[in-house]
Amino acid sequence: MLRFTVNHPFPDPITNAFVAVVNRLLPNGWRFVISPSPRMRYSTDPFITALALTRDANVVVPGFGRLDQITTMEQQSDAWRRRFQSALTRLIGSSQTSSFELIRDDPLNSDQVFVDSYFTGMIDVGDLEHMAPVDAAAALVHTLEESLSREARPTIPGFEHQHQHALAGMEAEVMGGTRLEAEILTRPRGVNLRDPPVGLTFEMWVPFQVPGGAIRAVVRTVRRRTVLQSRLAGFASIEDFRRQVPR
Ligand SMILES: [Zn+2]
Repeated sequence: MLRFTVNHPFPDPITNAFVAVVNRLLPNGWRFVISPSPRMRYSTDPFITALALTRDANVVVPGFGRLDQITTMEQQSDAWRRRFQSALTRLIGSSQTSSFELIRDDPLNSDQVFVDSYFTGMIDVGDLEHMAPVDAAAALVHTLEESLSREARPTIPGFEHQHQHALAGMEAEVMGGTRLEAEILTRPRGVNLRDPPVGLTFEMWVPFQVPGGAIRAVVRTVRRRTVLQSRLAGFASIEDFRRQVPR
């Protein structure tokens, strides 16, 4: 099950932006919806009303992700879109729940959440909007799968376990190759991706190894933890990738 909250007084534009991103990634004939539309629950109790201004999931009405097939006509679509749809169908049908708060243009959190945060349980819709479609699709299923059994209080060992599981799972399926995390390069080299310097715009070159050894790389332009854009690049091998990524 996919459960989404939006902790914002005007939640619909944020929900709608996320739904629009997901729908841009789906093959023809499928529509993603979140129902009901997530919102904050207002209470007449002044104490609860005060609480509603904090990020407390208990005062937020969640919505649940659903996929509707809107046509039965056979239509041509990119293979990765069909794999994305298949992954999303399994995530929605899972007996476990992946739960996220959607944020967008959030002055407090957008710079802290790099696409998603396992620890705060947030997805930055703005990052997904800026990413190349296949990059967004692979990152999103990674995020959702990784959090299927996130602990109530996330821990680093819990994250590492879930992250390794997600790397080998739906992300590799959608991308058509396995992410080689240890081979990620930055331009300029040596940017600390766990804590990127304030004010530096840099590129992150992420290689995925496809069967046969070729590399499909995602190149993201990033400022702090905000993805400004991304594109794809191809290399014959990991050696070529190491040699050819510009400094
Ligand atoms: Zn991960």
